[in-house]
Amino acid sequence: MTLLGEDIPMTIGELNASGQRLGLKCQDCHRFRYMRAARYPVDTKIAVIGGTLRCAQCGSKNVQTFAVARHAETGYWPAEGN
Ligand SMILES: [Zn+2]
Repeated sequence: MTLLGEDIPMTIGELNASGQRLGLKCQDCHRFRYMRAARYPVDTKIAVIGGTLRCAQCGSKNVQTFAVARHAETGYWPAEGN
């Protein structure tokens, strides 16, 4: 079972089933946030969402959306930042 990896076109439905969260990262200012996956249809490709968004902090359209897993050892979610 492979759920991580940027080359795999995971959908929102698969994200929900995997227990991961939808992350958003700006490639220009490196702002990282979680997004509510429930706002998108389950057949939406995660990577496509980023192309429709702008960074709320710097206005860049160079943002990426991807699946985020809990830390394998600590069980914590990566912290939002920037
Ligand atoms: Zn930004």
